[in-house]
Amino acid sequence: TFEIRAHAVVNATGVWTDELDAQADAGHAPQVRPAKGVHIVVPWDKVRINCTVTVPIPGRARRATCTRWGNTVVLGTADEDYQGSPDDVHCTRQEMEFLLEGANTAFEGELTPDDVIGSIGGLRPLVGGKEGATLDMRRDHHITIGRTGMVTVTGGKLTTSRHMGELVIDKVMTVLGRSARSRTARLPLLGGAGYDAEAVAASGGLAAHLGERYGTEARFVGDLVQQDPTLAEPVVPGLPYTRAEVVYAARAEMARSVDDVLSRRTRARLFARDASAGAAQAVGELLGAELGFSQAQIERSVADYLSSVRHERSILLEGAAA
Ligand SMILES: Cc1cc2nc3c(=O)[nH]c(=O)nc-3n(C[C@H](O)[C@H](O)[C@H](O)COP(=O)(O)OP(=O)(O)OC[C@H]3O[C@@H](n4cnc5c(N)ncnc54)[C@H](O)[C@@H]3O)c2cc1C
Repeated sequence: TFEIRAHAVVNATGVWTDELDAQADAGHAPQVRPAKGVHIVVPWDKVRINCTVTVPIPGRARRATCTRWGNTVVLGTADEDYQGSPDDVHCTRQEMEFLLEGANTAFEGELTPDDVIGSIGGLRPLVGGKEGATLDMRRDHHITIGRTGMVTVTGGKLTTSRHMGELVIDKVMTVLGRSARSRTARLPLLGGAGYDAEAVAASGGLAAHLGERYGTEARFVGDLVQQDPTLAEPVVPGLPYTRAEVVYAARAEMARSVDDVLSRRTRARLFARDASAGAAQAVGELLGAELGFSQAQIERSVADYLSSVRHERSILLEGAAA
């Protein structure tokens, strides 16, 4: 553990906020009601849609949303109370089956579990009472200042996250006794200043792929390829991610494990779960070279990823308990 001194601390840890608030203040009353959602991914040639479609699921009030994403289709989601560990959330076999059933009924398809090339489960940190369905709960954000002065933000949505950030900074200024206000609303996102989406898409090939992922920051990834052309090679067969993106993830995006790279800095695990496992060793070696890992550290990071993919598969395909 490290001891870090700070004038202000912000707790923005999603469904873990209550756990952290309770560490700071034993009298903290829990406020988060975790609501689980899942998505699965199938090849586009099995569900040939070109836009987002919502479809009814037989016997359920909830509808499923089907969205084309490149040469895949993403099917989701669910919205259910969740009582398990927030550290181990996956799409279950039952959840996968109702999404497949919805898509098969709507599109007269024949999707089977073998068509599911990736899946993901997540928890929404909803704030509110325990009564009623999570689906009907408001997605409002909540910002509080605890007795120790820690600013906690929870609830909200990805689409409102910048506004939440703005309000949090203003709250921190209050804690610090300063009058300055957040400048977020006037700042472009990293890679967003001067970004021309149409020109980037029209450029095609690697330039378009990197531009769409990194905005104007893509030139730094491009520089890596210029210095070492082997970094232009794909890292996961069938997906557009390059080896340069692994190096960039280590240097500029704080990636510290194979899982960081394949699950979060890229979406390789979601779009090609099994192929991503096949790429784990190569990713481990690239990361290891960047971060000065020992051979044992590389092997541990690769083994952790492979074991986590096996665990995900067993819950999804064999119906094992999480
Ligand atoms: C299935 C699903 C569908 C969704 N759909 C939409 C949508 O269509 N539109 C939309 O706007 N929003 C959507 N959301 C909501 C959006 O994704 C959430 O609002 C968002 O993920 C919550 O963000 P967060 O940053 O509060 O929490 P999280 O994204 O959970 O991030 C919390 C972070 O804190 C870290 N952490 C935990 N404990 C600690 C600690 N002690 N110290 C340091 N770090 C810690 C965790 O590792 C994690 O990285 C959806 C969510 C789900 C699950």
